[in-house]
Amino acid sequence: MQGLVQVLVQAPAHSGINGALSYLCEQALAHGTLVRVPLGKRETLGVVWNKASSNETDSLDVKKLKPVTAVLDCIPPLSDHWQQLVNFSAAYYQRSAGEIALAALPPQLRELSEQQLMRRLLRHPNKPSEVDDDDNRDLPRTLTIQQAEAMTIIGSEAGPFLLFGTTGSGKTEVYLQSASQLLAREPQAQILVLVPEINLTPQLEARFTARFGTSAVACLHSGLTPAQRMKNWLAGHLGQARIMLGTRMAIFASLPNLRLIMVDEEHDASYKQQEGARYSARDLAVYRGHIEGAKVILGSATPSLESWHHSRSAAQGGRYRRLSMPDRIGTGGSLPTVRLVDMNHQPKDAVFSPPLLAAIKARVARHEQCLILLNRRGYAPVLRCSECDWKSECSYCTGYRVFHKIDRTLRCHHCGQTDRVPRTCPTCGSPDIRPLGRGTEKLEETLGELLASVQRPDGSPVRIARIDADTTRRKGTLATQMAQMHAGAVDILIGTQMIAKGHDFRQVSLVAAINSDAALFSSDFRAPERLFSLLMQAAGRSGRDASISQQSEMWVQTFYPVHPIFEALKAHDFDAFARLQLKERSQAGLPPFSFQALVRSEARDQASAQAFLLAASVRAKESAKVLGVTIYPAVPMTPQRVANVERAQMLIECLSRMALQRFLADWQEVLRAVRQSPEGKGLIRWAVDVDPLAI
Ligand code: ADP
Ligand code: ZN
Ligand code: ZN
Repeated sequence: MQGLVQVLVQAPAHSGINGALSYLCEQALAHGTLVRVPLGKRETLGVVWNKASSNETDSLDVKKLKPVTAVLDCIPPLSDHWQQLVNFSAAYYQRSAGEIALAALPPQLRELSEQQLMRRLLRHPNKPSEVDDDDNRDLPRTLTIQQAEAMTIIGSEAGPFLLFGTTGSGKTEVYLQSASQLLAREPQAQILVLVPEINLTPQLEARFTARFGTSAVACLHSGLTPAQRMKNWLAGHLGQARIMLGTRMAIFASLPNLRLIMVDEEHDASYKQQEGARYSARDLAVYRGHIEGAKVILGSATPSLESWHHSRSAAQGGRYRRLSMPDRIGTGGSLPTVRLVDMNHQPKDAVFSPPLLAAIKARVARHEQCLILLNRRGYAPVLRCSECDWKSECSYCTGYRVFHKIDRTLRCHHCGQTDRVPRTCPTCGSPDIRPLGRGTEKLEETLGELLASVQRPDGSPVRIARIDADTTRRKGTLATQMAQMHAGAVDILIGTQMIAKGHDFRQVSLVAAINSDAALFSSDFRAPERLFSLLMQAAGRSGRDASISQQSEMWVQTFYPVHPIFEALKAHDFDAFARLQLKERSQAGLPPFSFQALVRSEARDQASAQAFLLAASVRAKESAKVLGVTIYPAVPMTPQRVANVERAQMLIECLSRMALQRFLADWQEVLRAVRQSPEGKGLIRWAVDVDPLAI
């Protein structure tokens, strides 16, 4: 007699099946077992799932069911905790469990035959890696008082912890020693370390391997080959890797002995997946820690206001334990002096104000380095005809194509459409077409001209380099450029926010933000938070070495020097900034004082995109009223059109997270029904984004 099993398969997001389908199987299979099953005409990878999450009824026609094709029992089943994490993520972010589970597994699991899998497994040593003593190991530092205090509390309380440590206060050392303390106590324990960006993995990986040895550390991120990803995933799943280090995708790593989760730079927006299942790895880390009994440490010099709010005192209702490390190590605690340049009083059209330029020259003369920050790549954001006012609009998107001088192209940063720069105006034929505004490429050129006569102490010409998405497109270039920077071969590094994060440049004594005023007046209520954090992080790159920390500076050129953001920045006072922002948010009823979700729709025309949202909101009126949910009108997204697709969105808001969750869960079916109705005609796709970061 054959039994029934529920198997989770990769199901299209809105197919209506949660992903668990019934199959026949002769043997009893534990939940979490990997199998291959037929699906339509093909065979696919699946995970045996518990029945509760299946939405099929008992009235199945057993005769029509197909048998499981193969059981991959050479690989131990995925744990109950892991299944719980997947179920929770699916429910919370309104996706199918099948989509989340299968995306979390290494792609090679789908492709390799059982024999091939067996061979892979044989290559894995079947004993856990040990943190052996090696004379070349990087030794633990003697902790500072602030580090020691943080460690004591982490050791004695349950958390979650918000490690609020200034840039350079030694947060990484706290991560390292928390890990070693745990491993000393529980040699089989596993530790998950999340980093926001793939670019930042190599340096943190280097610090962990220097301390724990290469065999103890495994990585998971999208830059790995399929074979590497398989190998590292197995190292986690088989309990061999002690430390799993990775980007947001690693939150779904299978780690049967997980005891500690650390999220570095927890405020970073990269922790939120921006397509498909839009999960927040940071938030899931807290949930995962809770279900697995693993301690969670979120670290940042500029925490997200959500985490900051959660870490208010317990008496005020805080749920996280805040651990403060305000002092920089090795610099007598000194932080860079913040200098605001009032651009209203500078020569008109000056890109670099005279005092900033003088300060840069002084650094070059002393063989110190400068970082110049401008959050816009390319040469100029738009090309314009001075005769007829033609502008380099993208024909497929609402927006301009950016002028890249290096290959004389116009490139759309939304859809990628690229053309050669026309010699004359496409509309009136005038040859007088000029770049408007300034990107990093032009900034590099301008600075080169301004510093043409400046020499380094050895008499050689000043060296300027640029790092942004354009210069680092080829694999390995970023690492090379960073190495040059570390070796002191470069005097001035120009770049986008890529250069502001995480790097431990020892000889930088001046950081300057050239033009960041736009963020002060953005319609996105999180823009000030992002700006403040970016500037604080950037300031954190300056004066990290004791020898130059006294003269280290952070320059900000602005037309609004008295803006409260800059006041707080001057005082390095995150607390003051957070208080100000949270007060505004509380008055406006914005997160973290309310909870939001966005429904986004895409169609060939804006009317269809909005019609779908409107119909969905009309049908949800009753339930919104009962649950206290506000549905805002549908509006065009910015940019409204990308690659010839019109985009619209509708904001949903509620004071209770639970009520919002209930509303969204009930609404799924309505959205699917509207999709099939006349109002859904012309719709290309729709998606729900829970806790969206960009409104
Ligand atoms: P953060 O992660 O907070 O930015 P890091 O952990 O990178 O700070 O530490 C900054 C610098 O201080 C690093 O070079 C690190 O090796 C050093 N450091 C950290 N803790 C100590 C300590 N207890 N004693 C001496 N140096 C330390
Ligand atoms: Zn023209
Ligand atoms: Zn475009």
